[in-house]
Parts: sequence; structure tokens; C-alpha cells
Amino acid sequence: MTTCGGWNFESTYTNLPNKFYTLMELNPVRTPKVVLFNAKLAKDLDLDIEALEQNGAVIFAGNEAPENATPLAQAYAGHQFGNLTKLGDGRALLLGEHIMSTGKRVDVQLKGSGRTPYSRGGDGRAALGPMLREYLVSEAMHHLNIPTTRALAVATTGEAVLREEVLEGAVLTRIAKSHLRVGTFEYAYHLGTDNDLEELVNYAIDTLYPESKDANNRSLALLEKVIEKQAILIAKWQLVGFVHGVMNTDNMTISGETIDYGPCAFLDTYRQSTVFSSIDVQGRYAYQNQPTIGEWNLARFAETLLPLLHQEEDEAIRIAKEALYKYRSLYEEAWLAGMRKKLGIRRNDQGDKKIIGELLTLMETYQADYTNTFLALTFQQFEEGPLYQSEAFQTWQKNWKTHIGFDQDEEAIRALMKQHNPAVVPRNAYVEEALEAAVKHHDFTKVEELLKACEQPYAHKEWQKKYQKPPHPDQSYQTFCGT
Ligand code: AMP
Ligand code: MG
Repeated sequence: MTTCGGWNFESTYTNLPNKFYTLMELNPVRTPKVVLFNAKLAKDLDLDIEALEQNGAVIFAGNEAPENATPLAQAYAGHQFGNLTKLGDGRALLLGEHIMSTGKRVDVQLKGSGRTPYSRGGDGRAALGPMLREYLVSEAMHHLNIPTTRALAVATTGEAVLREEVLEGAVLTRIAKSHLRVGTFEYAYHLGTDNDLEELVNYAIDTLYPESKDANNRSLALLEKVIEKQAILIAKWQLVGFVHGVMNTDNMTISGETIDYGPCAFLDTYRQSTVFSSIDVQGRYAYQNQPTIGEWNLARFAETLLPLLHQEEDEAIRIAKEALYKYRSLYEEAWLAGMRKKLGIRRNDQGDKKIIGELLTLMETYQADYTNTFLALTFQQFEEGPLYQSEAFQTWQKNWKTHIGFDQDEEAIRALMKQHNPAVVPRNAYVEEALEAAVKHHDFTKVEELLKACEQPYAHKEWQKKYQKPPHPDQSYQTFCGT
């Protein structure tokens, strides 16, 4: 136990029936060393930055537990690429919930912290590259105003992990509103009793949606909340061109936060069928499929709640279907609202969908860069490119300008578009380049520079432009799960 860092831990997770978790001892590592520390986040969490900067390594590598922490591994299940499997934290430990001075609480989790009863064949460890990747991309997502888990620190362990090659081990300290997943409910439904399920619903409502505490039907209230949160979340992913890559139900949170940055990546070229992950051979989690996969996952969530939604199964199914039915319109609404802003549309109009759809079709036809097309429209600066040179685009642009009254109000329109079209997203080429310098040479300057650029995506500063250049069209990127 250490008092270093000003933590204020409590564990409410242990109030759940004990089949939901396993209490754990820490797995100390040989040589803990902090390589990235998120001082701004630490400050927002009311932590003692100086103390953590000096002595945080033992905490962030999982060698010493902060006072009142209750390390545990969470049990869960999940549909992985469509197949239900028993899972659980196989390489992570929940240290507990840290309570801030405002009373707000967050989960603090170590990822890469060693074996647990849920490790199956795995070593419970993580390599430096993937932990830095999660740090970078999750922080970038946060600054893009997309709900996500956060990254507080990455510490190297001084121990090797064996993958296809020998790699340096690392632990990520992850902060989340909650680590409850659709998979946690699947676990309760398939391996627990109705009482376990009910306790889990109550726990989720109490910690995440206390405003629904007095709902007549708590499980319906929870289902509706999660449907809404996920519809909005996935719309936001689509709007920035984020491909999660592994939308298994164990990677879908009840809080509506993006979680698990394994094989994720951002679109360069706008291609609806884009898949980056090497293991997603059938393209199940392709960019264009994310909204429907979201719906599929939510249907799995709804199924777990059936015993509580109504005592008669038929009626329970009817209630679940009615709730799920709302997903599509919630998603469409959120997506359309976001697209309108990206295109400077300030008043809703029947013709908006047509204008938006036509542009996306042209972008796909001419293989335009997703982020940069919106930037070009924002600043009315068009580099050479088949899209911009095409007659179809010229015509589209004329119609668009008339549609939004561009010439009458250019300044206000540009201001709106600047707020909704990021100057920088962490494109895979730059992420990989930064990770390589860090992993191979322990040079973290590129990671830090990229992080800095991603921290203010809507600043549109000259120095951020170096991250706008897309990779050569022939360079296609593949991402790996990175376990
Ligand atoms: P993920 O793909 O990171 O969402 O992980 C899916 C499941 O595999 C989770 O139950 C993880 O805890 C488990 N897992 C991933 N990597 C490892 C590892 N290196 N050792 C043990 N379990 C792992
Ligand atoms: Mg996962």
C-alpha cells in the first residue's frame, strides 16, 4: 500500500455478487518506469501530480496498490465476431473507483498487469506499442469530443513479452466512467441467476444513470439509456471516420464510452468498406457496418434483460423490440445533425440529406480523403485531386453554396465548419511512425508531438498541417489486435 498520489479509492464493484469478479494480488514487475504521464488528466482527477511524477511508477506498473484500492479482475462474457465466449479481465485489474472532490467517481484500471483467472491461454501482459497506441488514440478521441475511456499513464515493466517477436512489456492506466460492458450482462444472463442480473441492473443504474433510479421498469430504463448513448457514440465515430475494428459485445460499454483501442484506425481515403484489422477477414467491422453492428450488439444486450423486462416472455420481447426500434432514428438524427455542422448547414431543411449524400457518393467515387475533403470545403482551399477537378464536384459545390447561403454568410459558416471538421485526426501512418520511434529507440518525442496536435483538433494551427498529408494511396495499412 502506498499513499503516493492523493488517491481517494473506494470499491463498490465488490458489492455485486462475487461471481462478477475475482479479488487479486498485484503482479509486481522488474523495473517500473513511467514513459507517458497525463498530467492534465491527473489534475482533473484531483491527483497529486508532483508526487506521481516522482514516484508514480510503482503504481502505474502495478507494483504497489494505492491506499484503499481493491484490485480485482472483472468477469464478463461476449460475442466475439458473432460467437458467444466466456471472457473476463485476462490482462487487466480494476484498482477501484477514485472519487474526486466533486464526488464524481471513475474506474481506475491497469491494463497489461499480469495473469488472472480469466487469462485463458494468454500471458496477461501487454507490449509497449499497443499501450502507447491506446493512450494516443483514446486521448485524441476525447479531444474530438467523443466519449471514451482515458489514458493516465503508460509504464514500461523492464520485462519482455513474447509475441511474434520479443517486445518490451508495458502497463496502461486507464480511466473510465465504468468498465461495465454488454458482455457483463451476457455473463450474468448466461451464467448467473435472475437475481444476479437484477443486482447488475441496479448497480449500472446507481453508478451510471441515477436519474433513472425511480423508473417503473429499471431494466427498460437502462436499455433505453444504453441504446441512446451508443447510437450517439457510433454516429460520432462515423462523423470523424473512426473504425473501431473489434466491436465485440465485450468491447461495448454500458456507459457509452469508446473502449479498447486494439486494431482501430481513422479513414484516410473515404471508402465505406474500409477494414483495417488483420483478423477481420470478412469485414464484419468495416466502417459502413458499424451502425448496424451497434444495433446487433444492443439486441444482444436487450436479450439479457428479457427476464426482467416482463415476466411474460412475449411481452418482454415486445418491450425490447420497441426500445431497439428507436436506435436507428436516434443514430440517423445524431449523424445528420453532425453532418449538417460539418457542411455549415445552420437551418434544417428537407434538402440537406440529398446534398450530404451526393457529396459522400462523389468522395467515394473519386477516392477522396475523408478528413481533408471537409477541411478543403471549410477553408475553400482545394489542392490538386480528381474529386476537386471533376465537373460533378464543381456542380455539387455550386448547389451546396446556394443551399447554405454561403456567399451571404461566409464567415459564420466557416466558423461553424471549423468547430466540426478536425484539422488533425491520428492517422495510422503518423501513429505508426511515432510508435516505431518510441518502441525501437525509446524516443518519445514523436508520440508527444502527435499527442499535442491531437489535443486541439479544432485549433487549425499552421503547425498541425504536417499531420494532414494522407499516406500515398497505394500504401494500405493493416492494424493488429496487439494483445
Ligand atoms: P480484447 O481483444 O483486448 O478486447 O480482449 C479480449 C479478451 O482476451 C479479454 O478477455 C482479454 O482480457 C483477453 N486477453 C487479451 N490479451 C490477453 C493477454 N495477453 N493475456 C490474457 N488475456 C488476454
Ligand atoms: Mg476488450
